[in-house]
Amino acid sequence: MFLLENEQKQRKNYRYQDLKKDLHRIEENFSNQVELITIGSSVEGRQLYALRVGSGDKKVIIHGAHHAREWMTSRLIVDFINHLLTDLSWPWLSLREDWLTEVTIWFIPMINPDGVTLVQDGADLFSNRLELIDWNNGSTDFTGWKANSRGVDLNRQYPTGWDSIQNDPGVQSASNYKGQKPLTEPEVQALYQFVNQHAFDCALAYHSSGEEIFWRYNLSDEQAKPYRELAENLAEVTRYQLIEPEGTPSGGGFTDWFLTEFEKPSFTIEIAPSIGPRPVPDLLYERVFHTNELVLYTVVAYLIAEIG
Ligand SMILES: [Zn+2]
Repeated sequence: MFLLENEQKQRKNYRYQDLKKDLHRIEENFSNQVELITIGSSVEGRQLYALRVGSGDKKVIIHGAHHAREWMTSRLIVDFINHLLTDLSWPWLSLREDWLTEVTIWFIPMINPDGVTLVQDGADLFSNRLELIDWNNGSTDFTGWKANSRGVDLNRQYPTGWDSIQNDPGVQSASNYKGQKPLTEPEVQALYQFVNQHAFDCALAYHSSGEEIFWRYNLSDEQAKPYRELAENLAEVTRYQLIEPEGTPSGGGFTDWFLTEFEKPSFTIEIAPSIGPRPVPDLLYERVFHTNELVLYTVVAYLIAEIG
């Protein structure tokens, strides 16, 4: 059994308020095992929460909802925290009992809380409502929105390969606008600084369309070689397809930056089949959860084996 199961099951849309409540409850119930902090705030002043489990030298970061309509990834990450704290049965039992003294995991479930709220509630409560509708081609239906509340695509804001990003609309938009320069948006600035302050050994970036894993950006075979085993392990446990580069990848994404800047493994995991520009339907959640159940374990087992 895990902490919030009944509540989770009733949820159609996983909201910023749900996240806030869940993380505070986890903090209250597991105060000896977790640390809850905020790493910054969004354009509209929502908190960007980060929760730590474990205290070891090997460090993993796992984050979701860079893209507004992809809030199912936030629910998934909170579910990972619940299971980790309350259900240390298989597969975790196969690790050393004290593995949480060797590994630190930072969870950041929702990088773009303004965007998530816009998709779920529409623009009525936003100070720039008219601009948002304009950027959304005159529509008040925001279900396809990916950007933050300034119309910038947060996964096109990282400095690596930013100059050569493809399909940039050049103006504020529901998706794909890279901004006037890298790192202009507070949500990305917060994550960028946080990651720079920690020496992470691995990063998992959750997105939601395609049942694929991006893992090498534009790295050569030789450069990608150290990450291939872990990438293949993740593909095996999820049955998602590993993406090999074709032509010139677009760049500007978190994973592109992390791989290049830190020369450590980083994966963009797309949790659902391609369903077009809308949120992943709630009825797919159970399947998504079970498909991804072994992802974190796979990364931790790999990092611990690397130590020992
Ligand atoms: Zn995405």
